[in-house]
Amino acid sequence: MDLTLSPSEQAFRDELRAWLQENHPGEEPPGEDAAFDHRREWQRTLYAAGYAGFSWPKEYGGRGATMVEQALFGEEMARARAPQPANMLGLVMGGPVVIHHGTDEQKERWLKPILTGDEIWCQGFSEPESGSDLASLKTRAVKSNGEWLVTGQKVWTTFAHKSKWCMLVARTDPDAPKHQGLTYFILDMEQDSVQVRPLHQITRQPEFNEIFFEDARISDDNVVGGVGNGWPVAITTLMNERAGLGAASAAGVRIGLGELRELAREYGVADDPLIRQRFAQLAIEVEVLRLNAWRGLTRMTKRGVPGPEGSLPKWQWSETNQALTELAVDILGEDGAAWDSPWTYRLLRSRANSIEGGTTEILKNIVAERVLGLPKLR
Ligand SMILES: Cc1cc2nc3c(=O)[nH]c(=O)nc-3n(C[C@H](O)[C@H](O)[C@H](O)COP(=O)(O)OP(=O)(O)OC[C@H]3O[C@@H](n4cnc5c(N)ncnc54)[C@H](O)[C@@H]3O)c2cc1C
Repeated sequence: MDLTLSPSEQAFRDELRAWLQENHPGEEPPGEDAAFDHRREWQRTLYAAGYAGFSWPKEYGGRGATMVEQALFGEEMARARAPQPANMLGLVMGGPVVIHHGTDEQKERWLKPILTGDEIWCQGFSEPESGSDLASLKTRAVKSNGEWLVTGQKVWTTFAHKSKWCMLVARTDPDAPKHQGLTYFILDMEQDSVQVRPLHQITRQPEFNEIFFEDARISDDNVVGGVGNGWPVAITTLMNERAGLGAASAAGVRIGLGELRELAREYGVADDPLIRQRFAQLAIEVEVLRLNAWRGLTRMTKRGVPGPEGSLPKWQWSETNQALTELAVDILGEDGAAWDSPWTYRLLRSRANSIEGGTTEILKNIVAERVLGLPKLR
C-alpha cells in the first residue's frame, strides 16, 4: 500500500476541491421532498461537470476514474460536506450491475437517466423473512405470455417512494437449490400492482418502505444476467455497494471528530480525562479505518473489481460512527434529549449503520472466511 499521491492524483484532487468550493449547493432545505429535489439538482450539477457515474467506464457516460480517484472523490465530497446525489442506489449499484451483466439494449435504455437523476432506482432485496439470508427470499416471478408476473413483499426499501425502477431479486424456480432458483429483474415501479407503504425510522424520517406486489408485470427484456442467474448478479450489486464506501466514510468520521472537539470545548469538558480518553480511542479508530480503507482499495486496484475487502471498513465505520455520536450525546447531557439537536439525530440515525448494507455479524463472517481465509463452521 502506497499512500503517496502521484502528481496527477494530486492535481485531480486540487481541481475537484476548487470545483466544490465554487459549486457547493449549500445546506439541504428542510422537508423530505425539498431535500430530495435539492439532491436531484445537485446530481444534475455533478453530471454536467462530469462527476456523476464517476467510476463508470467512459463509453457509458461515466468518467472512468481509477479506484484511487474514486476514493479521493469520496473524501473530498465528505470534506466539503456536499450532499449525496439523489440517485445514489442507481449510481452505486444499478448502473454498475447493468454495465457488468446487461445487454446493449439495457445499457442504452437505463444508464443515462441514472446518471442525470431523471430516473431514481431502489434495491428490492430484503423481505420480512429474508435479510441476511437473502437467498431464502420468497417473492415469486412466474412467466406468462412472454412476460413475468411478480407476487410477494419486500421491506426496508430505501427511496422506493421516489423510484421509477427497482432492482428486484425474485424466485423463478421454487424446485432449484435456493441460490440457483433466483432471477434479477428491473421492475417498473409505476404500476397499480406495486404498492409502496412508508416505514419510519427511529429518527421519524420516512426513508424506507414496504413494497407489495400482486401480479406486477415485468417485460422479459428486463431480466438482467439471465433467468436463474440472479444470485451472482445480486452479489455484484452488494460488492459495489460496499466497495467505494471506505475512504469517504473514514473522511466523514474524521470531520465528525473535529466537530465533536468543538462541542466538548463549548460544553467545557475538553479537559475531562474520561472524555479525553474516549477522544483518543476514537482518533485511533478513525485512523485505522482510513488505513484499512486504503488497504482494501490497493487490493481491489490490483484485482480490478470490487471484492470482500469492502466489508471491513463498513463494519469499522459503523462502530466508530456509533461511538462518536454516543460520546456527543454524553457531552450534550440533558440537551441531548432535544429532538432538534443535530447530534441526537445523528445518534439515532447511526443505530441503522450496523444493519444497513449488511449487518456487522455478517460482515465479520465475510472478513473471517473470505479475507482472512479462516475455516467455515459449516
Ligand atoms: C436504513 C436501512 C436501509 C435499508 N435499505 C435497504 C434497501 O434499500 N433495500 C434492501 O433490500 N434492504 C435494505 N435494508 C435492509 C437490510 O439490508 C437488512 O436489514 C439486513 O440485511 C439485515 O436483515 P434483517 O433485517 O432481515 O435481519 P436478520 O437477517 O434477520 O438478522 C437479525 C440478526 O441476526 C444476525 N444474523 C443473521 N444471520 C447471521 C449469521 N449467519 N451469523 C451471525 N449472525 C447472524 C444479524 O447480524 C442480526 O443481528 C435496509 C436496512 C436499513 C436499516
